[in-house]
Amino acid sequence: NWEYAPAPESRDIANLKPAYRMFVDGKFVEGSGEPLKTVNPATEEVLAEVSTASKADVDTAVKAARRAYDRVWGRMPGAERAKYIFRIARLVQERSRELAVLESLDNGKPIKESRDVDVPTAAAHFFYHAGWADKLGYAGFGPDPRPLGVAGQVIPWNFPLLMASWKIAPALACGNTVVLKPAETTPLTALVLAEICQQAELPPGVVNILPGAGDVGSELVNHAGVDKVAFTGSTEVGKLIQRSLAGSGKKMTMELGGKAANIVFDDAPLDQAVEGIVNGIFFNQGHVCCAGSRLLVQESIADELLEKLRTRVATLRVGDSLDKNTDVGAINSRAQLEKIQELAAAGEAEGAQRWTSPVPVPDKGFFFAPTVFSDVQQSMRIAREEIFGPVLSVLTFRTPDEAVAKANNTPYGLSAGIWTEKGSRILWAAQRMRAGVVWANTFNRFDPTAPFGGYQESGFGREGGRAGLEAYLDV
Ligand code: NAD
Repeated sequence: NWEYAPAPESRDIANLKPAYRMFVDGKFVEGSGEPLKTVNPATEEVLAEVSTASKADVDTAVKAARRAYDRVWGRMPGAERAKYIFRIARLVQERSRELAVLESLDNGKPIKESRDVDVPTAAAHFFYHAGWADKLGYAGFGPDPRPLGVAGQVIPWNFPLLMASWKIAPALACGNTVVLKPAETTPLTALVLAEICQQAELPPGVVNILPGAGDVGSELVNHAGVDKVAFTGSTEVGKLIQRSLAGSGKKMTMELGGKAANIVFDDAPLDQAVEGIVNGIFFNQGHVCCAGSRLLVQESIADELLEKLRTRVATLRVGDSLDKNTDVGAINSRAQLEKIQELAAAGEAEGAQRWTSPVPVPDKGFFFAPTVFSDVQQSMRIAREEIFGPVLSVLTFRTPDEAVAKANNTPYGLSAGIWTEKGSRILWAAQRMRAGVVWANTFNRFDPTAPFGGYQESGFGREGGRAGLEAYLDV
């Protein structure tokens, strides 16, 4: 029971404007698509009107990116490119309060997460990739690694600024130019990043930002002037794009959905594991591709762990994203809220035990109280489908072999977690799990030096680390 006390000035920090325009060839211009209204999901208030791109605008942006590539960026020495990317990194840091508040308003995520995770990690990505720009020739890519040309990039709404940074930073470091489409419900911070590119005096056309819905994304990835497609989003749309690009010769990377297992063995430090489980599924309202949405707990400790978990989850505060005390913010859109409600109802209908945190939830806005399902069977939808919300499915196992088999029983394979005191068991299990990232005694740790990406239907290609550069180079 805490008092909701929004800081009166906090909204002003976001420097919110009534209208935002798209960014093409170094200028902010009106798009000729139907403007969209972006909404604060915590209050349902309209935040701003945003212009969107038409097919012709996509063409203009791709041509601007091509010119910038041919005449300037693709020929610039890496050490020169690095200076611009370092400048962008510094400006993201300088404008971090503004970006954090704007991100929380547009996305619904708690301010402490946008402030402590999204924005600093975005800056870290630019710093890290700036450091690579002049070292590509020495890093085992061959003597003369070449950029690919124009990258068409499409991103989701769960980490709007961070996903834009994951896409733009490596592309620029390798000498490519970019046309990026943010998600329709969260276009604002990508457009502030465009302002930052302007402030950094990045040559016109090197980065272009086109807000719009899926049709704009589709025009972009299918445009003949795009050499490389980088997509982060649902497996469903990822498959559509792969089909439409078959035979095009374009290079692709796909960062798609997940259904990660978080495995707790009987020797795990339980209080620490509880914190990791909570972070794994309730961080960012569970709108995380690598969320630890399937808890696999050893049968002998299941009751004890579940009791500790419910006690801890009941303390999570759900509410306004701008309140610094908020642990779980708003669901990003009504459509996403309805999808979560539908899957939770399916869990009950299929016979799982539903426990909902007794925490108060605001009447207005899109909210969903943290929910834990126990007695979950592998065949249930809540054990198989990505819920992308604050809903945890708990399954049990008896032996390490069974734990690994259940963890791997998914068409996805993005991440996994292991909680145990035994180092040998961590290595044993990690080698057997089909997951791009395996965390041990921690969860949801992100670092630009570590490659991130999936197996199977979670996609292909890596972002971050040296491996992430391969996606933007011809060797
Ligand atoms: P989504 O697939 O619905 O949309 C993602 C983006 O694709 C949006 O910008 C959307 O406008 C665009 N889009 C939609 N249809 C398109 C089409 N036909 N052609 C081109 N672009 C199109 O996904 P979402 O709901 O925004 O995001 C949630 C999904 O993203 C989850 O499945 C999540 O797991 C995944 N995700 C994956 C990663 C990762 O790194 N693997 C990271 C974050 C999110």
